[in-house]
Amino acid sequence: MTSLCPCQSGLDYQNCCQPFHLGERLPESATQLMRSRYAAYVLKQIDYVINSTVPSQQKLLDANLLQEWADSTQWLGLQILRAQTLDKTHSAVEFKAFFAGKAGENNKQAHHELSLFVQIDQRWYFVDPTVPLPTMKQPCVCGSGKKFKYCCGAYL
Ligand SMILES: [Zn+2]
Ligand SMILES: [Zn+2]
Repeated sequence: MTSLCPCQSGLDYQNCCQPFHLGERLPESATQLMRSRYAAYVLKQIDYVINSTVPSQQKLLDANLLQEWADSTQWLGLQILRAQTLDKTHSAVEFKAFFAGKAGENNKQAHHELSLFVQIDQRWYFVDPTVPLPTMKQPCVCGSGKKFKYCCGAYL
């Protein structure tokens, strides 16, 4: 029994994002991580959404809120528009995630975002710009030891 991966790669789930969701493999690029996070939203695997966010930000995420959002959203597809290498440890991915409008509205809405990803110890993480961030002079969220403004903050 196989089924297509929700990230719309055209691959079977078991050959695409499932090994990431099960923790058997790590995404090798920011784009792969982005796709697997979208697939996790579709499959309501909120643990994965949280665990793939920069470790220092994980405690700032509201798991219940994320779960509610995932439960109440009907996802319709993902389109990767652009992946950009910013420097050795930072990449940006621009995408559109499509979802159904409110009940009664028979329309397709798009969530258009440019997301920042950072590599820490060979592993990619999402940098969440919606949680409280350090000031520009404070240490960066990714633990690089650099000031926020010279690290992830430069790209947000
Ligand atoms: Zn996938
Ligand atoms: Zn950083």
